[in-house]
Amino acid sequence: MRAAVLEAFGAPMPIRELTLRAPAAHEVLVRTVAAPFCSTDWLGWRAMRGKTPPVVLGHTALGVVERCDGRGYEHGARGYDYGVGDLVVVAGTPQCDECFYCGVGRPDQCALLFESPEPVLATDHAGRPVRAAGRVGAYAEFVVADRSQVWRVDSSLPATQLSLLGCGITTGHGAIVNVAEVGPGSSVAVVGLGHLGQWCVQAARVAGAGRIIGVDPLAERRATAAALGATDVVDPTEHDPIEQVRSLTGGRGADAVVEAAGPEQAVQQAVAMSRRAGTVVLTGVQWAQGTVSLPQNAIAIHGRRILSCQNGQSVMSRDLARCVALMESGEYDARPVVTAEYTLDQVNEALYASGEFRDLSGVITAFR
Ligand SMILES: [Zn+2]
Ligand SMILES: [Zn+2]
Repeated sequence: MRAAVLEAFGAPMPIRELTLRAPAAHEVLVRTVAAPFCSTDWLGWRAMRGKTPPVVLGHTALGVVERCDGRGYEHGARGYDYGVGDLVVVAGTPQCDECFYCGVGRPDQCALLFESPEPVLATDHAGRPVRAAGRVGAYAEFVVADRSQVWRVDSSLPATQLSLLGCGITTGHGAIVNVAEVGPGSSVAVVGLGHLGQWCVQAARVAGAGRIIGVDPLAERRATAAALGATDVVDPTEHDPIEQVRSLTGGRGADAVVEAAGPEQAVQQAVAMSRRAGTVVLTGVQWAQGTVSLPQNAIAIHGRRILSCQNGQSVMSRDLARCVALMESGEYDARPVVTAEYTLDQVNEALYASGEFRDLSGVITAFR
């Protein structure tokens, strides 16, 4: 099969013909239909996320089941209700239903993802094992995924849009609904209007937030956020963004702030933009070993809740169907977020467009 292989950090990824590993009994073979290029993969390509080449990047995919071990059986809290020929999302976060974290309702920390090495997907022409990033490796013709990462999608929306369900949509939805618990009339600031920030804006609108403030230095991204539900947008390069958010929220700061940018300065700004006893949700990542320093008084004395989330603390067996329903009803609109389509041969164009902030989500849709 053809795959884009990260062989050397920071160098263009060549398309290689790989020998795919046969799926085990607990795995599913999926033919990739659409794979969004995610900013996390840009970081992985730059050696910031602890990947080990050769590796196929891409931590979520939409595809069609080619082979799996039966259909309709129950395991743990979920059923595996997909079979050959079904359209499925291969999510970057599994829900194994067997580990401690799945047992306490936190599959976002599933042991399968964080306590086992990224699996070998294939071998290259020299017989070297090639791993699958995020247990998916979506920039390839086929994906071999654990059954607990695979979810049937019943929707006729375009594949480009549905492919965002395994990363951006569920993460943004979850950051607002599951973690920040945004309620009607509240004020929300979103720091960073990349693909994740745009989903946070939409989720805040659907949750009934009264004031939704999008913060980003890029005018195009602020315009998209305004079209998707931001009531106000702030250019942090024009004037102190903390003061701008405070002046829009009665001088207090926002009830909830979601940080979806990554740099330490953005994290610090997010905390400073929240009101006393407000909620801050940190989602951005940069270097795997990166650190952030925060003002002690703002947290210890002024009662802010500093929260974080991986995959929006989503429970996919619950949240995926909700997100699909919101897309079907038009309340979640993926069209402005899908900013380009690429073939697998154009994967490096997608890479640079992501890293240079030209794309929100560039989706790879042709693999042969
Ligand atoms: Zn992602
Ligand atoms: Zn688990």
